[in-house]
Amino acid sequence: MTLKYPVDYIGITQAFKQGTHHGLDLGWHDYQGEPIYVSADGVVCATNDYDKSGQSWGNYVKIDHGNSIYTLYAHLKDGICVTNGQEVKQGDIIGYMGNTGYSFGTHLHFEVYVGGASTSCRVDPVSMAYVYPGQKVSSDDANTVKYYTPIVNSTIRNENKNQVEVLTELNVRTTAGLNGGKVGFVSSGIYDYYEVQEADGYTWYKISENQWIAQDSNNTYLRIYNIQPKPEPVPTPNPKPIKEEYKEKYNIEKDGIYKIYLKKGEILIIK
Ligand SMILES: [Zn+2]
Repeated sequence: MTLKYPVDYIGITQAFKQGTHHGLDLGWHDYQGEPIYVSADGVVCATNDYDKSGQSWGNYVKIDHGNSIYTLYAHLKDGICVTNGQEVKQGDIIGYMGNTGYSFGTHLHFEVYVGGASTSCRVDPVSMAYVYPGQKVSSDDANTVKYYTPIVNSTIRNENKNQVEVLTELNVRTTAGLNGGKVGFVSSGIYDYYEVQEADGYTWYKISENQWIAQDSNNTYLRIYNIQPKPEPVPTPNPKPIKEEYKEKYNIEKDGIYKIYLKKGEILIIK
């Protein structure tokens, strides 16, 4: 599962700060009414609409993405587009950027939860979300955000190629090693690989440019198919030279097996 930024225009107006601001504020100059999209497939698990309290998140939607990952979209305009319990897909519109709750200008307050739904599980969305093709990023934030790279397509088994078969959900990283930025994940399929490196206790396989996946030390993440070295060809024994006298006698000029009857009961076979 990869989280996509929930807006078309990504401009960070306030960063995540542990202890004081547990989300990412996204606005775009004076643009009003921007649609807000679901970051990844999931189920709506909490909503609030037509909030007039002027407190906290105001109108908001919270999504359960499974695997104890949640996202929350706050300060939405009145009239959110989803209901509690509804299944949603990445990119579905859930509402529009607004200024409800404790907010002093139209923006989205975007939260990401990892490990559970409680507020103590909130993490910096910048560490989890990706800019997808087609989304615009403010030049101020171009080096802050991460960009999603579509993972190379899986292929079919080919005995003439070095390949890996993915046996579990694996992060795809930009370089070999745990410091490589995550660009997505793979959960099954066969991939050609082009390079192998050891790093951080894992064996890393390069499946595309800037796309590496890891084999664990117990070999449970990947099944490796290396090209088998071709067996040494068995040399065929040199054919016995055909005696010139036989060639002449029996007119043998082409390759093949010849039976030459020497005399009654004796056969000379020439290959
Ligand atoms: Zn905020």
